Amino acid sequence: MTITTAEENYLKAIFKIAEKEDKAVLTNSIAAAMNTAAASVTDMLKRLAEKQLIKYEKYRGVELTEDGNRLATTLIRKHRLWEVFLVEKLGFAWDEVHDLAEQLEHVQGEPLIDRLDNFLGHPRFDPHGDPIPDAQGRWTFRQQVRVSLLQPGEKGILTGVDDHATPFLQYLDQIGVALGIEIQLLDRTEYDQSVQVRISGKTEVTLSEKVAQNLLVIKG
Ligand SMILES: [Zn+2]
Repeated sequence: MTITTAEENYLKAIFKIAEKEDKAVLTNSIAAAMNTAAASVTDMLKRLAEKQLIKYEKYRGVELTEDGNRLATTLIRKHRLWEVFLVEKLGFAWDEVHDLAEQLEHVQGEPLIDRLDNFLGHPRFDPHGDPIPDAQGRWTFRQQVRVSLLQPGEKGILTGVDDHATPFLQYLDQIGVALGIEIQLLDRTEYDQSVQVRISGKTEVTLSEKVAQNLLVIKG
């Protein structure tokens, strides 16, 4: 069975929405994620259902089948391993790799990705802190908290970012925020929920609520 790049991207989108919403995925959510009209989503869903990669009932929504789930997991594995390779071995910055990985994830061939995984020493997280499923499709989960939910005085180590957009990551670079640094919440402004934080025990900065919501830390 051949699966096109577009079909792969839909599987990945469905997987990611299901992960967040924890129920059958609706056509409208897929249309929003893929930036396309609901009508073209319906066509695609029919094709994926014919290939038995999803279960699709018009008014209930979409669920991945076991095969669909395996394929989506593999795609995410490839995407994130390529991101590690681009950052660690080719010297790209963390805000430069997502679009390249979107292309590389579609290169076919299991031996290639297994060798890449070996070459990189089986990394468990990508440059944005997202978990990389292993060859058996197993994930490593961590108990992370959004900086926006910390109480004054609490601190944690930054382990992930929930937004991978280039402007966001470049902004973090500017203010000295990177994975592995310590962030302590000092105070919260009632008016707009912006937070004052101390970075690495030194610099103090104010973060908007939106920025704070997209920073994930392990408390400690
Ligand atoms: Zn990415």
